[in-house]
Amino acid sequence: MSEYIIKNGHVFDPVQGIKGDKKDIAVKDGKIVDKVGSGAKVIDARDKTVMAGALEVHAHVAGPKVNAGRWYRPEDKHFDSHKTAGITRIEGGKSIPTVFKTGYEYARMGFTFAMEAAMPPLYARHVHEEIHDTPIIDEAALPVFGNNWFILEYLKNQEIENTAAYIAWLLRVTKGYAVKVVNPGGTEAWAWGLNCLSVNDPVPYFDITPAEIVKGLIEANEYLGLPHSMHIHPNNLGNPGCYETTLDTLKLAQGIKAKNKFGRESVMHLTHTQFHSYGGTNWVDFESKAKEVTDYVNKNKNITIDTGNVTLDETTTMTADGPFEHHLHGLNHLKWANVDVELETAAGVVPYIYSPNISVCAIQWAIGLEISLMMKDPMRCYITTDHPNAGPFTRYPRVIKWLMSAKARETQINAFKHKDKVLSQTSIGALDREISLYELAQMTRAGPAKCLGLGSMCGGLAPGMDADVAVYNFNPDKPVANPDDIEKAFSRCAAVFKCGVQVVSDGDIVSNGNKRTLWVNAKVKDNPQVMRDIAEKFIKYYSMTQNNYEALGHHFVPNPYALEVDATN
Ligand SMILES: [Zn+2]
Repeated sequence: MSEYIIKNGHVFDPVQGIKGDKKDIAVKDGKIVDKVGSGAKVIDARDKTVMAGALEVHAHVAGPKVNAGRWYRPEDKHFDSHKTAGITRIEGGKSIPTVFKTGYEYARMGFTFAMEAAMPPLYARHVHEEIHDTPIIDEAALPVFGNNWFILEYLKNQEIENTAAYIAWLLRVTKGYAVKVVNPGGTEAWAWGLNCLSVNDPVPYFDITPAEIVKGLIEANEYLGLPHSMHIHPNNLGNPGCYETTLDTLKLAQGIKAKNKFGRESVMHLTHTQFHSYGGTNWVDFESKAKEVTDYVNKNKNITIDTGNVTLDETTTMTADGPFEHHLHGLNHLKWANVDVELETAAGVVPYIYSPNISVCAIQWAIGLEISLMMKDPMRCYITTDHPNAGPFTRYPRVIKWLMSAKARETQINAFKHKDKVLSQTSIGALDREISLYELAQMTRAGPAKCLGLGSMCGGLAPGMDADVAVYNFNPDKPVANPDDIEKAFSRCAAVFKCGVQVVSDGDIVSNGNKRTLWVNAKVKDNPQVMRDIAEKFIKYYSMTQNNYEALGHHFVPNPYALEVDATN
């Protein structure tokens, strides 16, 4: 492998506390090193910003739900498609891009890792086939657990050890990364035409509540000592007044300490917080409760969040929250797809247009930004658009512009048709904070890496870490003349390295890199009861045999990287 020296850039690295100092970054054999030989290839980063590769903590980028979106929204390809060029394949789609475009676009923006946020275990192969075909970036996938029949039964009887053994088995057979929960109990209730809108609503048939599911899964997660915390999309997403359900959910983590060897301190990750921070009783008195939610998270250090920023685009929503998609379809009357995934989960897909001329959309835009600007510790708050739900991930540079420039926010507020309503229902107009480049590196690199248990491997530029490096055409010494320059600089990197291989040069893809799939191999004590339960349910209920379900071999995950966990004692 080649040696490189990235010279004279302004380095921002929270892992080492470097705040824009001029430094050289040396790369050898895929790792950051102290120094390289005189023959190393020189990358001139003078007057440029240098950070570690960014990590995406939550996006819907691979699998059957994403592909259903591609099928039923052929119009999405008309918005943005590019021909093959150099080594790149054709790039199609805007809110639901092809796998090729997904990998290239993340890389061009300086991202080297993305988490697929909801893997239906039954369709794990499809998820991994798409991950396999996504170039350059490392990826992992979160299997969904919050409506799984095994989990509901074990937790109803408070069997934490059995829950943990089942989680370990499922992570292994699906090559999954962590415990994802979507509308706990509510998606199962949807099979009965119902939903769970509070943490105390009963789940039909199973006689358990969302609160019991969430608490039990946190306990099982810490029993195993997994790299990532329990990752939750709470009940009651997207409804006026839902912030109370969000606070009730967050309180379930109270007093629980993280137990793991990966340096993770959180026990609950609240995803797309914007969709869970709504006040009011209807769409007319709809208002922001970002302050109430962030006040709670600021005080409780065992919680991390991501934002779910609305980007004011036409997009395609998709979630395992089946009842929510039905509700959304009832609101906007656009087309609707719904899938039931046997004993495990469900999913829905509905297009959505976040119009700057609709007051609710403009208020949602403000709430997403308020969350980042109100969070005191950027190490616990990560930028997402819940791609594609609040907007495509390709809009990150625009979100960064809004976060780094109060002037850019003001320009957008002035462009809203219902500007007065945005200002009266949110406090975006009173927030003058501007996120610094160092804070940006915390929110997109060091923070997410730590929260995923990858803090010693990536998200920083210390010697020994993976050589994931992004160089931006942005000079921190120069005042920003036009906020649009921020968006431009973060859209296309001057150079990107992924595990020591240069994958982007002057904004162009120059290599398909050395992509890996990360998964978690958790060892537990032999548990004959859980294995008997699994065998029995496959015979009785599943449309697939257990052998077939478990046979997700090398063909599907050709370049795996397993994080080992030992919970046998
Ligand atoms: Zn999501």
